[in-house]
Amino acid sequence: MPPAPHRFPRPTSLAHQLVSGVVREGDTVIDATIGNGHDTLFLANLVGTSGKVIGFDIQESALKQTRERLGSCAGIDLHWDSHGNMENYLDGEVNAAMFNLGYLPGGDHEIITVPESTLSGLKTAAAYLAINGVITIVAYTGHPGGSEEATRVDQWTKALCSDDFSVIRYEFSNRKKKAPFLIGIQRLA
Ligand code: SAH
Repeated sequence: MPPAPHRFPRPTSLAHQLVSGVVREGDTVIDATIGNGHDTLFLANLVGTSGKVIGFDIQESALKQTRERLGSCAGIDLHWDSHGNMENYLDGEVNAAMFNLGYLPGGDHEIITVPESTLSGLKTAAAYLAINGVITIVAYTGHPGGSEEATRVDQWTKALCSDDFSVIRYEFSNRKKKAPFLIGIQRLA
């Protein structure tokens, strides 16, 4: 049988590919927006029981649901706090940080990530990022406030020094509906 045709990955899938390319068992990683816990689970599987996943969400329900999904795995620290306060929870290098912005699908669409805390979390993640470590950001522009946040994030990432960080942007650019885009940041030096 011929192989199944391969479609371009969605931004969230490509984010997983970028992260799994660099994260190894025993690493420390961040889920900046836990939500339904898909990324938390993905990260937990990559780092294994010898690694650490540090997660953040401002909605307690997201933490509860994710704890139920993951069970009581060792090395998973979920915090009911904003990723804007990330620095308070880090004590060493991180190998990856995933940001999935906007609102929680199936949840309250009024509760959204906002530029100030998003940028603060991103700056902290970049400051603690190990060499070769990766930050992924999936940004949405279809909801009120989304475009402004996406633009601020885009501008900040584009201004990162190219000697220290490599930055990519990926999106389906011929869609009629506003499509999310992925930004990947890798620390070079
Ligand atoms: N990665 C998730 C989807 C995230 S949706 C998944 O795979 O299911 C965005 C999440 O960010 C929501 O759950 C929302 O509560 C959370 N959020 C909004 N502002 C935040 C902040 N300042 N700090 C941490 N989480 C925040």
